[in-house]
Amino acid sequence: MPFSHTKIVGPTGRFGARYGMGIRRKVLQIEVKQRGMHRCPQCRSLVRLKRLAFGIWQCPKCGFTFAGGAYIPQTIMGRTITPEELKAPERQKQVWKESMRQRATE
Ligand SMILES: [Zn+2]
Repeated sequence: MPFSHTKIVGPTGRFGARYGMGIRRKVLQIEVKQRGMHRCPQCRSLVRLKRLAFGIWQCPKCGFTFAGGAYIPQTIMGRTITPEELKAPERQKQVWKESMRQRATE
């Protein structure tokens, strides 16, 4: 295909011209992350997690079900309280700063 009609809107193209550009951009950001690869907290394999319900995710490999963010398996807030990262607070602060900077430029 030489020309894509949904290059800018992506999966939110299904909304057509409705709901406004601002909210569609937000939905797009969330949906791209949701469909991406995430690491399973149980078997540590990089998989496309299945979203069972709001904040409930399941690994297709080991069947492990766990609680995460409503639309994203792991949230920035959730990541700040994972035990292994609590051991390195300085590194965590840097990760936090970087992610906030990323958000600001998005
Ligand atoms: Zn797993």
